[in-house]
Amino acid sequence: MTKYLFLNGQVVDYDDAKIHVLTPAMKYGATVYEGIRGYWISDADDIYLFRLDDHLKRLFQSMELAWMEPPYSIDGFKDHIIELVTKNAFRQDIHIRIMVFVMSDDGSMTSRGPVGSAIAALPMGRISSKSETGLNCAVSSWRRISDSATPPRIKCAGNYQNSRLAGIQAENDGYDNVLILNENGKLSEGAGSNVFIIRDGIPLTPSVTDNILEGITRDTIIRLFVEKMGIKAVMRNIDRTELYVADEAFYCGSATEITPIVSVDKHLISGGNVGPLTKAIKGHYLDCVRGKDPLHGEWRTAVYSR
Ligand code: PMP
Repeated sequence: MTKYLFLNGQVVDYDDAKIHVLTPAMKYGATVYEGIRGYWISDADDIYLFRLDDHLKRLFQSMELAWMEPPYSIDGFKDHIIELVTKNAFRQDIHIRIMVFVMSDDGSMTSRGPVGSAIAALPMGRISSKSETGLNCAVSSWRRISDSATPPRIKCAGNYQNSRLAGIQAENDGYDNVLILNENGKLSEGAGSNVFIIRDGIPLTPSVTDNILEGITRDTIIRLFVEKMGIKAVMRNIDRTELYVADEAFYCGSATEITPIVSVDKHLISGGNVGPLTKAIKGHYLDCVRGKDPLHGEWRTAVYSR
């Protein structure tokens, strides 16, 4: 389906997008990245990229924190993304991964350059077969990485070792997905998404100092709760036992979108069904990303009619 990828300034054939095995990207996980969804809008004959500017802003923040010089300006990245998607001529929902990495040949642990970059645009539908009915989740016995060691605020490949350990443990134990507590025993996030719970009609989500990636979907949801439903979400520490007694809970992320959680450590949430506020905010979210709701036109970048 995907014929072309982007590597170091050029659109190349899928099979030719290769880097050397001894780069610090490979040896030490010296890669920062972003994941962005593109929605195929058949009425407009176009693909809308959701919050592209905000993802690029976060990519630049990750590069700053990881000591990598940006290989392009924000507009340069945008041009390369649009060129790549256009060349592949997708007519379906897609996911774009932008990677920036240290690619010196056999570079050391502290090598900062040269900095390479790659972009992949691949077809992507809903990522879980249970995205409608909800997931049965476990609280991990692994703790989330912390800002004082490997900061989750940097969206870097190395951080996903923590996510892998937690995710695989949950899979091995027969769960669909995982929730990870931080070093203080409070909820941080999922393996690759942020988390909201609902208690007594109030959406709660961990704060940005709870060792989370500052998710763009999380921000979108906080805003849509106010703008569409008149509900103010609260960002605060969340205890493990609050997960067990929550009225509703869901994951959120660019790829994940909004995916309901229907049990945690076998405690049923909302009787094992998807709750009403989760259903409502998911509807508003999907209308927003696809432009069915005209609100926040600045969040959608049309690719083909640009
Ligand atoms: N936390 C982690 C660890 C993630 O990998 C992601 C996905 N990028 C998120 C949260 C959600 O971030 P966003 O909504 O910006 O995609």
